Amino acid sequence: MALIVQKYGGTSVGTVERIQAVAARVKKTVDAGNSVVVVVSAMGKTTDGLVKLASEVSSQPPTREMDMLLSTGEQVSIAVVSMALQAIGQPAISLTGAQVGILTEANHTRARILKIETDRMERHLKEGKVLVVAGFQGVSSLEDRDITTLGRGGSDTSAVALAAALRADFCEIYTDVPGILTTDPRLVPEAQLMAEITSDEMLELASLGAKVLHPRAVEIARNYGMPLVVRSSWTEDPGTWVTSPPPQGRPLEGLEIAQPVDGVEFDTDQAKVSMLRVPDRPGVAAKLFGEIAAHSLDVDLIIQSIHEGNNNDIAFTVTRNSLAQAESVANAILPVLVGDAAIAPPEQPDVLIEQSIAKISIAGAGMIGRPGVAAQMFQSLATAGINIQMISTSEVKVSCVIDATDCDSAIAPSAAPLR
Ligand code: ADP
Ligand code: ASP
Ligand code: MG
Repeated sequence: MALIVQKYGGTSVGTVERIQAVAARVKKTVDAGNSVVVVVSAMGKTTDGLVKLASEVSSQPPTREMDMLLSTGEQVSIAVVSMALQAIGQPAISLTGAQVGILTEANHTRARILKIETDRMERHLKEGKVLVVAGFQGVSSLEDRDITTLGRGGSDTSAVALAAALRADFCEIYTDVPGILTTDPRLVPEAQLMAEITSDEMLELASLGAKVLHPRAVEIARNYGMPLVVRSSWTEDPGTWVTSPPPQGRPLEGLEIAQPVDGVEFDTDQAKVSMLRVPDRPGVAAKLFGEIAAHSLDVDLIIQSIHEGNNNDIAFTVTRNSLAQAESVANAILPVLVGDAAIAPPEQPDVLIEQSIAKISIAGAGMIGRPGVAAQMFQSLATAGINIQMISTSEVKVSCVIDATDCDSAIAPSAAPLR
């Protein structure tokens, strides 16, 4: 017998028929001998409707009231899903985030989960009930116990956090697509379904906007080694498994905030090619990187700086063993980029090579919505007297190119409280 957390998104509980189909699937899982915790989102586009309602009464609604309003969508869902389960003879109980004991920061509309109290859930599970828990919401751990929400798409986060806190066997995310595809199947019908993806790969995909799984949910799954599967609510197909390294026995206190940054990585196998004063006009980057790609050279970071005149500097990094080839491609393409533009000598374009650079990166979904983390990285490097040559950021990663000789001091614990 397994303990399974099943999360159903908005579309999956969008109508009475769909709620009944969810209830039937849950009952089937219980009948097969499992304990089930169900996490649900608001029905259909309810949350969007509530956001619109707020905007009609206030141009800047107070975030505390916003949470009070938005959390109501999930409360409707838990009640009706629990009713539907009981109507087919399956004992169930609906629970809000507060009732479950999902304690969060008081940071309204984007709160992070601090801790989940599991006593009450364990009691009801022992009674043979299915728990129907409201996703996307919690309650602030402060004395006031105000309702908080976790940010849009946050029910995924609730589900995986509950699975981790309850030490469930796995967490199933039921949605309106067959699983995780190579890209959004609504935009690209040829997208391919993947049977499996690592949590690291999924984190990148999610942070680039693949909203099928929220990056914070992926991060929790990775940190706690929680097996996660994304499946269709309408079929029995196996879906896509998100695989994580084995659990490290990480404490459940400070569930989402203990570490805004999960890892510091460095890569000294890098070299930089800078193309100075290339013309600022459409097609230049396309031509340059088209040529680089034609030579199968793998470019990592790219930076383009803005000049006041009509030219730019473009710099990129490659692995050291492809530097010689990258340099010759850059030199060969330069006259093509410049074309017949007449340029006076001090303004002439040029190619510069730097052999000894290193890339240092911090990664973690805890950075989402926290610009302070990137700033802290820059400050740490500054404190260690390290000059940053290039910066590249995504929602879950910040990378800086520095001189290779600075790498040791950049990653030394004394350089920075990066974690
Ligand atoms: P739910 O309400 O179940 O949480 P979401 O709308 O949040 O569902 O997420 C599912 C949607 O994510 C799909 O309908 C699909 O359009 C979109 N999506 C974006 N990228 C991907 C991808 N790579 N694979 C699958 N679905 C994706
Ligand atoms: N109902 C919330 C939203 O629409 C949370 C969720 O669906 O995950 O953002
Ligand atoms: Mg979603």
